[in-house]
Amino acid sequence: MDFSLTPEHELIRESAYRFGQQEIVPGLAERDRAHQSDRASLDKMAASGLLGVSIPAKYGGMDTDYISLGIVCEELERADTSARVVMSVHSGLHSLTILQWGTAEQKARWLPGLAEGAAIGAFALTEPNAGSDAINIRTRARRDGDSYVLNGEKTWISLSDYADQFLVVAVTDPEAKSKAAGMSAFIVDRSLKGFHSKAIKGKLGVRAGNTGSVLFEDVRVPAENRLGEEGDGFKIAMSALDHGRYTVASGAVGIVAACLDACNRYARERKVSGEEIGRKQLVQQMIANMVAGRDIGRLLYYQVGWMKNAGLRHTREVSLAKWQNCNFAFQAAHDAVEIHGAYGYCDEFPVERYFRNSRGAMIYEGTREIHTLMQAEYELGYRADKPLARMLPRWPFGQEA
Ligand SMILES: Cc1cc2nc3c(=O)[nH]c(=O)nc-3n(C[C@H](O)[C@H](O)[C@H](O)COP(=O)(O)OP(=O)(O)OC[C@H]3O[C@@H](n4cnc5c(N)ncnc54)[C@H](O)[C@@H]3O)c2cc1C
Repeated sequence: MDFSLTPEHELIRESAYRFGQQEIVPGLAERDRAHQSDRASLDKMAASGLLGVSIPAKYGGMDTDYISLGIVCEELERADTSARVVMSVHSGLHSLTILQWGTAEQKARWLPGLAEGAAIGAFALTEPNAGSDAINIRTRARRDGDSYVLNGEKTWISLSDYADQFLVVAVTDPEAKSKAAGMSAFIVDRSLKGFHSKAIKGKLGVRAGNTGSVLFEDVRVPAENRLGEEGDGFKIAMSALDHGRYTVASGAVGIVAACLDACNRYARERKVSGEEIGRKQLVQQMIANMVAGRDIGRLLYYQVGWMKNAGLRHTREVSLAKWQNCNFAFQAAHDAVEIHGAYGYCDEFPVERYFRNSRGAMIYEGTREIHTLMQAEYELGYRADKPLARMLPRWPFGQEA
């Protein structure tokens, strides 16, 4: 086993960290307070090249390995969750899923624009009446000649108002022998007639990010925009979640690191009865727990990154990493508020934002309960993963990518 990061990894960590601190953090407290998302942050991310991480050079990507994607997510979420969410939906859920399931023509058509950031991608699975039970989605895609006609509503979609294209999962065959076998996946362009989006207001966290509903009213999608075969939709959605969960797991470590940044500073400055609070053992306990969360969390996501590089199926491992790392982040943010006392309870310090933001990640990409059940089911032998028809290309990228 080799746990060392390469000089390329260190370089990418340094540049993602610098980008986050220089381009995302300035003005963030105000944007977060005003619930204000903007396209400018996306444009900056595109200009920095970060949207092409872990995409092969032949599609205009950075050609870096999958561990690099995790490192970028960690450093971006150290700045703000909204920036990591862009990586999750654009790079994880959307671009990597096209890299895995797209035909050669589809990859050549979509990936260069996505890697460059000329087009922003998103992922639309959840519906008003189907979240954890995504198997019960109702959005319908009816074949009509050389197109599919989409009708339905998706909700809680990150980047709903900014994305140019959406990976949408819909029912193509309501009579199929199983619900999963009746679903297909499509890349839907927001410029198509009958596509609408609407932001969700009043969120607890990720306030500098955009989340909303998307509505399809007789949206005519060309058949060549179908990803995989008819009936592959549910499998494609689950593959997408393998990639998305990886970005959430690695990002969660960034929240722990940010809590440590803030608490290291504060615990050495703030004095109680003439002594730095960092000297108090119960404060040290909380700091020590954060250190454990950061370092265990890194091992969990590095393992998944390594499995991605090796072309191995990793649904169990990424579920474990996502579940545990989100718990670490939430606990760290809770303790960071504690360490800051009353100052942790207002937005003069960033820790209250970490606390609100870390809560959302325990809901999206599989709730805490869903991951708990998954882990128990794997252990008890009630769940096992079969090889997929198409796997994410291993790294270094070869001809098959
Ligand atoms: C900020 C944010 C961004 C999001 N972005 C996206 C996105 O980009 N694309 C997208 O498609 N979706 C997105 N989502 C939606 C998210 O994936 C769903 O909210 C999530 O899957 C949970 O579904 P639900 O909200 O309908 O909760 P429900 O499924 O209704 O769950 C409610 C409660 O019941 C529990 N529960 C459900 N089933 C079980 C069970 N079998 N056993 C035990 N307990 C159970 C859950 O754990 C939860 O506590 C986002 C959500 C948020 C909050």
